Amino acid sequence: MTKAARVLLPLLASLSLLMDCAKLGMTPNPGGGAPPKDKPAAADKSKSSAKNDQPSAWGGNLRGSVVKTHEVDFARAFEEEGAPRRDAPSQTARAPQTPAARSLRYPAIAAPKRPVKILLKRGVTEAVVYSAATAQVYTPNGSMSFRGRMNIDATYGPSDVITATVNNVKKELRLPCTLYVSSATNLLELGENGYRGAVIVVPENAGTVSIINALHVEDYLRGVVPLEIGSLSEAELEALKAQAIAARTYTYKRMSQNADKPFDLASTVADQVYGGANAEATVPDMAIRATNDLILAYNNDIVDAYYHSTCGGQTANIEDAWGGESCPYLRSRSDADKSGKPYCGQGSAFRWTETWSMSRLSSTIKQHAGEGNMTPPYNGGTLRRIEVRARAGCGRVSKLALVTSAGEYAMSGEKARFVLRRNTPSQQALRSANFNNATIANGEITITGVGYGHGVGMCQVGAIARARAGENFEQILRAYYTDIAVRTVFDGNARQ
Ligand SMILES: [Zn+2]
Repeated sequence: MTKAARVLLPLLASLSLLMDCAKLGMTPNPGGGAPPKDKPAAADKSKSSAKNDQPSAWGGNLRGSVVKTHEVDFARAFEEEGAPRRDAPSQTARAPQTPAARSLRYPAIAAPKRPVKILLKRGVTEAVVYSAATAQVYTPNGSMSFRGRMNIDATYGPSDVITATVNNVKKELRLPCTLYVSSATNLLELGENGYRGAVIVVPENAGTVSIINALHVEDYLRGVVPLEIGSLSEAELEALKAQAIAARTYTYKRMSQNADKPFDLASTVADQVYGGANAEATVPDMAIRATNDLILAYNNDIVDAYYHSTCGGQTANIEDAWGGESCPYLRSRSDADKSGKPYCGQGSAFRWTETWSMSRLSSTIKQHAGEGNMTPPYNGGTLRRIEVRARAGCGRVSKLALVTSAGEYAMSGEKARFVLRRNTPSQQALRSANFNNATIANGEITITGVGYGHGVGMCQVGAIARARAGENFEQILRAYYTDIAVRTVFDGNARQ
């Protein structure tokens, strides 16, 4: 068995399940996605051992025997690849602790140590995948290879079949279809982005497919941490480590909840922003390697490691932000230093002002009223006032009244962020739920507030300031997550 096959076979074991879930659980995106920018096709000059009449485009044969599954541990196969990682940390990085020393300091905790599955594109009719090196293609009815540009068209034929074109030669591929490059230096490219691990095409509804990236969790984090907190400098390394641990914890939590779903996380703010290999940067990579396999736990459970940009001086109880049950480690915490100044006070989003014309805000409210969960349900009217009626202990608005000519509607401050959307072209949510009564003057309405984000868990700007002030990653994490423990992930499913 080739190295690539050893890596991919176990993944195939879960793909029929993926396919079913994809049909059941995912809805097509009517807008689709713009087709990725074309890459120059390199396939025409590549060697091929194929015996059919298109030797220059495709290798392998779909009539080959169906691959067996359940043979190899996919996660371990990744680790066995042996090639040094491209971005071995610079000489300034500290030597990693030995596993034994680590496990004494950060005791082991079981977690699903498998590749994480990230949704890259949902419900698209076509896609272009480019591979500079020979890529393996695994389908339910055989395997093959290609090099160069593969155009995928989902609009033709049955819903579990795509047309894949390489160097003007078409083949029909059964789904799910897994693409993989067994090379430490070559990545699969989708549009402008390179991706580590495997790219999986799964069927969707109505002649569309979704595209998923399955890869090692540590590689996934390399495409997340720089986009979530910035690349930062070595002076802020401890904040990057705290962010790496929070993001890793969030990832393992979702993996444990979504094992039977077609993917574990979205690649957007709905979960964690993921930019593939293009997002990787030197200092974040150092932080990820230095905290390899470390996550946060509370009472032997992986925690929900929420985080946000700027708390505004005090983080939020989870139940005050989103309702529901309280959580012992997601408590409102002061983010002030010894002199009483908020750590996140220097951030650009600490204080904010948002101004709309009355007509602009009225139309925004009408457009997004459904996201407010208002009492009573929103029924229009001319906007007259917006009043804070109650606040949670952390200062965030717990009850906001929208007063119109048709009546008064109440909603929580966190829900109100998604109704009173910002006066920008992309209409992002209002920056925080910690704001003052709206003021109205000259046909304009203005709201001022502090903080950016939901306020639950770690304050990222505060974490950066704490790192600069000399706190280490554990001190930073303990400032935002109450009574948590740092633990080392081990594979709970591995045979001992
Ligand atoms: Zn803060």
